[in-house]
Amino acid sequence: MSEKPMLLVAAAALIDADGRVLICQRPEGKQLAGLWEFPGGKVEAGETPEACLIRELDEELGITVAQACLAPFVFASHGYEGFHLLMPLYLCRRWEGQVTAKEHKALAWVKPSRLGDYPMPPADAPLVAWLRDLV
Ligand code: C5P
Repeated sequence: MSEKPMLLVAAAALIDADGRVLICQRPEGKQLAGLWEFPGGKVEAGETPEACLIRELDEELGITVAQACLAPFVFASHGYEGFHLLMPLYLCRRWEGQVTAKEHKALAWVKPSRLGDYPMPPADAPLVAWLRDLV
């Protein structure tokens, strides 16, 4: 059993009408800068993962997502140096507003078969195989 604290982060795979998935490049100055991640963030005390994603997708991308449009898909679980990350990935095919990089360095809409071309944090990378099978 790991003694590391557990960090709960919720993430979303936004999927557009062409079956492309949104990935977001982490900005300079943050841990894992330059890597491409699924958008989302830390679940705060008192929040559900869904409420967290609704908040984070607004803050990070400027979009409005209804809870009913967030479908839990798979969990990532990865031991980082100071903590263990548990990260549910939700699928989202409907949102309101224009997807805009408010906090990330760049955004990319990528066919699942090409997601492997983008370096990702170690927690996110295993999710790619699941998305390839799904979309
Ligand atoms: O985004 P934030 O820095 O708040 O996330 C906390 C930590 O969770 C990151 O430093 C990273 O280790 C991990 N993380 C991740 N994949 C994501 C989001 C966060 O591995 N999509």
